[in-house]
Formats: sequence, structure tokens, C-alpha cells
Amino acid sequence: MTTLSMTINGQGVLSPETVPVDNPATGEVFGHAPKCTPEQLDSAVEAAAAAFPGWAADQSRRRDVLMELAGAMKANLHELAGLITSEQGKPLDAARIEVLGCARWLRYYSSLELPREVIQDDERAFVEVVRRPLGPTAAISVWNFPLTSAIWKIGPGLLAGTTFVVKPSPYTPLATLRLAEIWREILPPGVVNVVTGTDELGTWLTQHAGIRKIAFTGSTATGKKVALAAATDLKRVTLELGGNDAGIVLDDADPAKIADGLFWGAFNNTGQICTAIKRLYVPESLFSETVDALAALAEKVVVGDGTDEATELGPLTNAMQHAKVAGLVAGALERGGRAVAGGASMDRPGYFYRPTIVTGVDEDTPLVAEEQFGPALPVMAYRSVDEAVARANASPYGLGASVWSSDTERAREVLSHLSTGMAWVNSHVAVAPHQPFGGIKYSGIGVENGPWGVESFTDLQMVHEARE
Ligand code: NAD
Repeated sequence: MTTLSMTINGQGVLSPETVPVDNPATGEVFGHAPKCTPEQLDSAVEAAAAAFPGWAADQSRRRDVLMELAGAMKANLHELAGLITSEQGKPLDAARIEVLGCARWLRYYSSLELPREVIQDDERAFVEVVRRPLGPTAAISVWNFPLTSAIWKIGPGLLAGTTFVVKPSPYTPLATLRLAEIWREILPPGVVNVVTGTDELGTWLTQHAGIRKIAFTGSTATGKKVALAAATDLKRVTLELGGNDAGIVLDDADPAKIADGLFWGAFNNTGQICTAIKRLYVPESLFSETVDALAALAEKVVVGDGTDEATELGPLTNAMQHAKVAGLVAGALERGGRAVAGGASMDRPGYFYRPTIVTGVDEDTPLVAEEQFGPALPVMAYRSVDEAVARANASPYGLGASVWSSDTERAREVLSHLSTGMAWVNSHVAVAPHQPFGGIKYSGIGVENGPWGVESFTDLQMVHEARE
């Protein structure tokens, strides 16, 4: 059994109680995380506050430390990837990509600087706009990308000069706990504290008066609770929330050419990506060909235990998500939908669900209207591009969208009518450290990544020097 300690003020800390962690490939408990007490949380916030002035003082040192943190992730690649696969379920190869991606993000932030902008320099005044780090920040992460969803907060925040109390998801706390243990050698005490527990710990943290910002990734329902908690003492928030991304295929696309991109845009990480294609709109003229190509890929993809190097897709990460996906697909089939591939759980232990393509549904079907966050893609025919755009936009979410076409100019024109924070031509989910990442409408507030992500961990200060 794996049991790791929390990191509070640079020290390993255990708790009187623990939270069990399942391996989704077996459905059995394989580790435990400490269940942080309210007093331990107070200590973590106090440590982050005490470390803040020293950490905020020297940007050049922070940039060096970010490089060291990246190096330590790379040096511990296999251990961290193994923990991700055990607690989250993704194939080892994908887990290694996640760890290396985190190191890449940290290196990127080490190359940035906080902006200073001179807006007036004349005989009357010298005026500049500078950025000041916010102070102790809560980073609340999620189980589909346990380390990525933490590093996209920690990296830019550390560059900006903030300190952290990080709370990973109760489903996937172990890789983050281990990362903080590894980093204890590098970081000054209190700069990154990691605490674990149930969702209740999230409520204590978001209500804590010592926290100045909440950087949150999770569901829209929880995001609204976080916003309410933040309002009490005007904490800043970044909310990366749910999505129901549409993919729109145009009639000049070649289904044989785009099927692979569409499939992985929907099924990567077993569909558990906020920006996965969650509903696909295809012109009537290309419908059967596209559906057949996707169904063939769904039947062929290797689903299994992530520790088997042949595995391309792992299980769903937890029983709750498995039940949700199974329920949405069953509901769609009861309403007259047809599973042209998959449509059922796999007959083995763990939270496995067969990659599923569903036709014969529309926006009245919960599988289409809600966020499934799993390996089940509804594919729908449309008659005109205007109709496809209207249907894609008829969602409370606004995270990402993609248009697939042989004519990229035409695709760009169609994308310009979609109400989302991110828009792709002939791909979906392509992310990079310099690209802003975030949604509009119910998909969130603010963005992560790039200089915009760094600025979100700062307050703006206008500095005016009179010269008259
Ligand atoms: P969730 O909202 O239940 O949990 C997310 C995190 O919030 C966890 O760490 C959890 O412990 C914590 N939490 C739960 N209740 C809380 C509360 N009241 N106050 C503070 N923290 C609380 O999310 P989930 O349903 O487990 O995760 C899936 C969702 O996350 C999907 O909707 C998905 O789209 C979304 N997601 C969004 C992004 C993005 O960047 N937009 C990325 C990944 C996942």
C-alpha cells in the first residue's frame, strides 16, 4: 500500500485519518492519502503567508528555481508516471507525456518575466503599470490530469511570486503528494504546501481568510460554489470548468483523412478531457462514411490496464464517472439512439467502458446536452452550416470547438461564429504553454497559460511619479 505525507512548511506531515485511493484498472484500493485536519490546513496557509514576502522578493531566483523543479520532475519521470497510471488509469506512455509536459510548462515559465509597461514618460510625469504577486493562493486540481491541472497553476504563480496551498482531487492525490516530497529539496519551506482530503477540504480552503486567490479546475457546479466562497472576502478566482465541445465537419472534408484526428479528439484520456469533442456534427452527405470510420477506430483501439504497454485507452478514473457515462449512454439508447460501436461496460474488474459511437440522437438527449466526460461520442447529421453553428452554440458551455475542412479559410470563417474560448481548425485539444487556455459562459472565468496565466496571479499597480 502506498501512503505518502502532505507537505506543510517544507515538512512531511501525516494525519490521524486517511482517504483511500482506488486503482481504476482493478477497482481496488492501492494507496491512502492523509485526511488533512482544519488545524493542519491553518498551518499550511500560515506557512504560505510566511514564505510569501521572501519568495516575492527575487524574480531572477524564482526563474532559476522553476528550472530546478522541472529538472526534478524529469529525473523522477518513471515514479511519477507510475503513480499517475495507478491512481488515474491512463496508459503509462500518456502518464510519461503528462510528467514531461509539466516539466516543459515549468521551463517555459522560467523564461518569462512579469511585465512592466511605461504608459507615460514626459515633462509632466513618469507613469508605469507594474504587476504585484497576489499572495497565498489555493490551487484546486482535478483527477483527469492530476499533475497537469496543478502545474498549470503552480508554474505561472511561482513565477509571479505567489505561494501555494495545493489541494489535489481525492481520487488522484498521490502523484501530487509525491511531487511535493521531491520538491522539498529545492523549494524554500512554505512556498508550495500540498494538503489532501475529501471535497470538504476544498470548502475549508476556499473559505479560508488567509487565501488571496483560488485557482480552480473542476466541474461548473463546484466552480459556482467556489465563486460564492470567494465573494465573502473578494478573493481573486480563475475557474477552469466543464465543457461540451462541438466538432463540426464541413462538406469538403475527407472522412478517411480526418477520422483519426476526430477519434483522438474525442477519446484521448478515455474522453476525460474538458476540451474533448463531446458532440460531433457531420453533413448528411458525409454522415455514413464518417460514422463508419469512427466506429472502426472505436472497435480497434486497445483498451486495458495502463501498465500494459500495448494499452491505448485506460479505464474511467472512478466508479462515479463510470456510472455517469453508462447512464447517459443507456438513456440515449432508450430514447431510440443506436450504438454503432460499444454501448456497454467491459466484462472485467475496474471501471472499463467500451469506446462508444452513438447515432440517432439530438440535443434533447442528455448524452448530447450534458457533459459526458467519457468514451461515448454522439454523432449527428446536419443540413446547413448555419444550422450546425446554431446547434453548436446552443449550450451553456463555451470551452472549445473545432471545424474540420480541406479549406482552412472557410473553416476559420465558420469558427468565427462559435462562442467558445478556444477554437481549432483540423485538430482539437492542441495545447501549448504559450497558448491561453480557458472557456467562456459556464466553462469558466479567466485563462491559464502564457503571459495571461501569469498575470492572473498578480494585481496591477499604477505607479505615478510627478515631474511638474
Ligand atoms: P469537481 O468539481 O467535483 O472537483 C474538482 C476539485 O474540486 C477536486 O479537487 C474536489 O475535491 C474539489 N472540490 C469539490 N467540492 C468543492 C467545494 N465545494 N469547494 C472547493 N473545492 C471542491 O470536479 P469533477 O466532476 O471531479 O471533475 C470533472 C470536471 O472537471 C468536468 O466538468 C471537467 O470538464 C472539468 N475539467 C475542466 C478543465 C478545464 O480546464 N476547463 C480541465 C479538467 C477538468
